[in-house]
Amino acid sequence: MHHEFPVHPVPANFRDAHINAEQYRSMYQRSIEDPDGFWGELAGEFLSWDQPWTRVVDYDFTKGEANWFDGGKLNVSYNCIDRHLPERADQTALIWEGDDPGDSMHITYAELKDHVCRLANALKARGVKSGDRVCIYMPMIPEASYAMLACARIGAVHSVVFGGFSPEALKDRILDSDCQVLITADEGVRGGKKVPLKVNADKALDACPDVHTCLVVRRTGADVAWNGERDYWYDELVGGQSTDCAPESMDAEAPLFILYTSGSTGKPKGVLHTTGGYLLQSAVTFKYTFDYREGEVYWCTADVGWITGHSYIVYGPLACGATSLMFEGVPTYPNYSRCWDVVDKHGVNIFYTAPTAIRALHSEGDEPVTSTSRASLRLLGTVGEPINPEAWEWYYKVVGESRCPIVDTWWQTETGAHMITPLPGATDLKPGSASFPMFGVDVALLDESGKEIEGPGAGYLVVKASWPSQIRTVYGDHQRMIDTYFSNYKGYYFTGDGASRDADGYYWITGRVDDVLNVSGHRMGTAEVESALVLHEDVAEAAVVGYPHDIKGQGIYAYVTLMHGHAPSDDLRKELIALCVEEIGPIAKPDIIQWAPDLPKTRSGKIMRRILRKIAENELGSLGDTSTLADPSVVDKLIADRPQP
Ligand code: ATP
Ligand code: MG
Repeated sequence: MHHEFPVHPVPANFRDAHINAEQYRSMYQRSIEDPDGFWGELAGEFLSWDQPWTRVVDYDFTKGEANWFDGGKLNVSYNCIDRHLPERADQTALIWEGDDPGDSMHITYAELKDHVCRLANALKARGVKSGDRVCIYMPMIPEASYAMLACARIGAVHSVVFGGFSPEALKDRILDSDCQVLITADEGVRGGKKVPLKVNADKALDACPDVHTCLVVRRTGADVAWNGERDYWYDELVGGQSTDCAPESMDAEAPLFILYTSGSTGKPKGVLHTTGGYLLQSAVTFKYTFDYREGEVYWCTADVGWITGHSYIVYGPLACGATSLMFEGVPTYPNYSRCWDVVDKHGVNIFYTAPTAIRALHSEGDEPVTSTSRASLRLLGTVGEPINPEAWEWYYKVVGESRCPIVDTWWQTETGAHMITPLPGATDLKPGSASFPMFGVDVALLDESGKEIEGPGAGYLVVKASWPSQIRTVYGDHQRMIDTYFSNYKGYYFTGDGASRDADGYYWITGRVDDVLNVSGHRMGTAEVESALVLHEDVAEAAVVGYPHDIKGQGIYAYVTLMHGHAPSDDLRKELIALCVEEIGPIAKPDIIQWAPDLPKTRSGKIMRRILRKIAENELGSLGDTSTLADPSVVDKLIADRPQP
């Protein structure tokens, strides 16, 4: 790219971080050369085991098999709660910030243990046993974490379904993983609006005859329909239970949870994660990526319905004895200062969010940010999509006042934990680059023919060896696991993402492999063109796709969302085209620009480019799986506004 964004060196106050540049290099090298020694040591340091393992790792990518810490036994809820009690009983484990800015509470580690044990006993009383699947369809309230940890305590396998999903989506997921118990709430509250969870659950359960128990948390006190044979009020069932429940000693490879992917590229996959390796890597990455220090307040804005919420609201932070903030609301309610007001209210030190939220907040300008203090912030993070360098710089300068490093963490539901990320005390930051692989993550770039690219270049991002928190199977369909991840290139885990590596070895995620543009034989990532468009000060967000073009093979179709209060014009269109030419070259000139007040996004906030591609290709009859779309009306509007090429 022509536009030069400055490199930000490690700031002075991170020189004493857990990991410095020298340590990163030596630890990384050891982790690749001697994974058994490396992970074996960390497993002893980070986790408490009931029984030691006899072998660290054994895997076979051709069969999609991985076995970590064979013979070892441990319990995840014990590791996240009980073992901290001697020194942390009165420390806050969870801070809950409600949708209403007046609502918040602190839950100590001692209280967490009581809540989790009561619920675990209640589940047992309803016949839930080790290995049974339990579906969790909840708002962002502490009970969602209790539910996950209670399942882990008794060896049940949870499947959290995002509380924004429809009855249909919930039903599909309950049936796919054969859950017999559902934990939900009467209603959720988000952005001042009620979400009818029990109504949705009832509709879903009409088609799920095997669900014998539905536990309902009273969140709003709404009047809800009741099935006397199946439904139980959470408080009534849990209230009489004992606050002691012995944690079930689980095999390291026992299933911990099933979680469906976001559905950006097609039908969601039920990703299965297991106990020892998953907990280890989420804890290790939590501590090192965020440079978490004793006593700090950490806030991840994700929903527990996504992998980010699993690994970095619940399991990673609690395994490390941290204080983790859980937010019920949305970043724009009651106003655009909400995140920073919450930071000031609770003294948040580490803030982790998604590019979609950063772009939405950026589109409202600086004032909602600068009117707050944010003095407690020490570190910022991002996850979910490539972050445009322009948005990165705004996050860095305006939100972090140029004093907080940003960790741009690349990973997937399937990877369980961070895979490529800067470490704040070790990595000089390049805006828009996820930078270097995490310990134990052996990545490579492959060319079209499957050959590894050496040095700088661009290609398919793959992983060469197993890592502890890798996906173990697609629930109920191991063949899909092999076909999706281990068949394209034999002996590699195929991420589905494209990336480039620069002369300094930094990785830049360019987007999904399916999204790579090929214009007159020139290949470029959609992310590159999008980042050029977003450089324009009137542009809040852009999504670029290819469409069939008679001469060039593929033409560039750009959907552009303007900053709040800006109107489209022909001059602006010309400026945007000029910007792409200047930044990337004449080859990157968009053929069509469509002004898009909104873009189709998954419920987790990712732009669904496959739908935009269909619109660009004018293939409106085959939009594919749209069940994970946040707002289907956005698609109709884009179709109606489609310019005729
Ligand atoms: P599906 O697999 O169902 O299509 P999904 O891939 O969006 O959905 P997730 O597992 O939530 O579901 O997302 C992982 C993907 O998100 C990655 O493969 C990558 O494309 C993108 N991603 C995540 N973090 C980053 C990041 N820091 N930079 C660039 N891309 C990222
Ligand atoms: Mg994916």
